Amino acid sequence: MNNRASTWARLNTDSWDLIVVGGGITGAGILNQANRLGLHALLIEQRDFAWGTSSRSSKMVHGGLRYLKDGNLHLTYESVRERQALLEAAPGLVEELGFLIANYEGDKPGKTAYGAGLTVYDAMALTRSHRYYKGDDFRLLAPHLRDEGLIGGYRYGDAQTDDARLVLRVLFEAQADGAVALNYAQAEGIIREGEQVIGVTVRDPISGAVTEARAKVVISATGAWADGLRGQTGAAPKIRPLRGSHLVFPAWRLPVAQTVNFLHPLDRRPVFAFPWEGATLVGTTDVDHHGDLNTEPSISPEEVAYLMSALEVNFPGLKLTLDDVIGAWAGVRPVIGTGKADPSKESRDHAIWDDHGLITVTGGKLTTFRVMALDALEAARPYLPTMSHPDRTRLPLQELDLKLDQPPDEAQRRRLMGRYGAAASALIRGAQPGELELIPGTFTFWAELRHAARCEQVVHLEDLMLRRTRLGMVLPDGGESLLGRVRTMCQESLGWDDPTWEQEQAAYLTLWRKHYSLPDRALIPDWRVMLAQKQAAAQSESDSDSSQPRVLWLALIVFPIMLILILIMIGKRRGRWAD
Ligand SMILES: Cc1cc2nc3c(=O)[nH]c(=O)nc-3n(C[C@H](O)[C@H](O)[C@H](O)COP(=O)(O)OP(=O)(O)OC[C@H]3O[C@@H](n4cnc5c(N)ncnc54)[C@H](O)[C@@H]3O)c2cc1C
Repeated sequence: MNNRASTWARLNTDSWDLIVVGGGITGAGILNQANRLGLHALLIEQRDFAWGTSSRSSKMVHGGLRYLKDGNLHLTYESVRERQALLEAAPGLVEELGFLIANYEGDKPGKTAYGAGLTVYDAMALTRSHRYYKGDDFRLLAPHLRDEGLIGGYRYGDAQTDDARLVLRVLFEAQADGAVALNYAQAEGIIREGEQVIGVTVRDPISGAVTEARAKVVISATGAWADGLRGQTGAAPKIRPLRGSHLVFPAWRLPVAQTVNFLHPLDRRPVFAFPWEGATLVGTTDVDHHGDLNTEPSISPEEVAYLMSALEVNFPGLKLTLDDVIGAWAGVRPVIGTGKADPSKESRDHAIWDDHGLITVTGGKLTTFRVMALDALEAARPYLPTMSHPDRTRLPLQELDLKLDQPPDEAQRRRLMGRYGAAASALIRGAQPGELELIPGTFTFWAELRHAARCEQVVHLEDLMLRRTRLGMVLPDGGESLLGRVRTMCQESLGWDDPTWEQEQAAYLTLWRKHYSLPDRALIPDWRVMLAQKQAAAQSESDSDSSQPRVLWLALIVFPIMLILILIMIGKRRGRWAD
């Protein structure tokens, strides 16, 4: 793995074929594919790897049934195909997960429409995963779901991942094979020769040092931040940043064995409750994000109320309150804006622009990262004319030829191989007695912390708690109670003295409280009032709907009578004049 100081020194001495800016899934995918093609490639990330949207997604590796409903067959097909490739390439990291869609009396779309959609969805993957379950059988699959009017529902197969670990697996695989990646290295500006972009100036936000890196081509995979570098070429902004947020519940308070989909009672958008890493997540929202992109996004009070109202209606028996919420986070979708009034109607396809040698690739989804990476490299071909052609059928990750004999549980071995790839053996070898045990309430081994601190370019404690492991996202108080043991295991490997550890711990907990927990409760609207208002509005709408036929009848009866009366009166007048 790269040593930070020596990598920094190489930035302006190596002659790079390609510089990738942005260490999310798109950038990691490009670095990996470029490396396979034999390019001398560098990736720089302004904060931590996966710090942007790629650690804040809903963690679904999916075709997106919703896109099918919106008529975006191409995006659905591409995503389904990529899902299948990732399931094959990364067992233990990308795993199948069941999805449930309840069917209630009077539902629109109803059973037939969903059945047709799911048939097409399955056909795209050449599988048949969906099945309809009648009332009681469906209740067994989703026992806490609203019972009133429930007549059954569908179960179908999709997949789930750990998004940040997917980024790291793709990135570290490329690094193990010769590529270079540096976190906490910001591309501050572009370097040009005439019109042509030939490199970037890079700033280390920790030391303040600045250097230059030059390449035949620069690819900006900066997601929601894409307008920043493009703007320096004079290109007009294109991104509409849309925030999506999640709430985290302990699994015992909101127990779901698979993803439960439902339409939100306020706006009929699809919302999910799903199991992840030992907790239950609920999401997501889709709202314009007006905050500064360089500050961590947070869930707003209104989004909390929106998600709580969905739970209130769909899991009424659980009587969930804000006291049950153990965490929250928000991410910003890099969506190409076209000015649609409803943010959810904006396309989730990716786009590529070439501004004088600065190739920008943005939009898209976590699931489709390989397609985005290959398309971006194709767009860079004019600047890399000798680049060979990629094998588009090759799996997104190398197949592993690895036999682990620890831990004894097969599912756990699979999980470690999925998340750490070839480094899983080193992780196990480095484990101290008692560290191949799970951290209570999670699926994470203690040994993962030790390994990450030693080998995975951790710069701050938040990198370790939020992205190398996901403990800070699924444990109450961001896993504060574990920090004593984490310190004993990791402080030396991180090379931090006591004041540094204390400073890091304080900074991490401040960040967690501000951006990974609930906002001030006094500001959260009462979602029961919101639901009551919606119900009242729906009632008056249906009253006015039902009054329409009456108005129509009245019009049909009254109008001819009025007309006859008017004609009679006119006739009488004429008669009078005639008189
Ligand atoms: C709430 C939510 C739920 C989602 N759920 C799903 C899902 O379930 N499935 C799915 O497939 N997709 C999902 N997505 C979409 C998916 O997460 C994103 O499309 C994907 O993560 C974007 O990856 P990216 O690498 O393009 O951007 P990012 O992950 O944001 O990476 C861009 C990186 O560039 C860095 N950067 C920016 N400027 C600079 C600079 N000047 N110098 C250096 N670095 C820079 C940023 O720090 C950032 O880390 C979801 C998105 C959201 C918001």
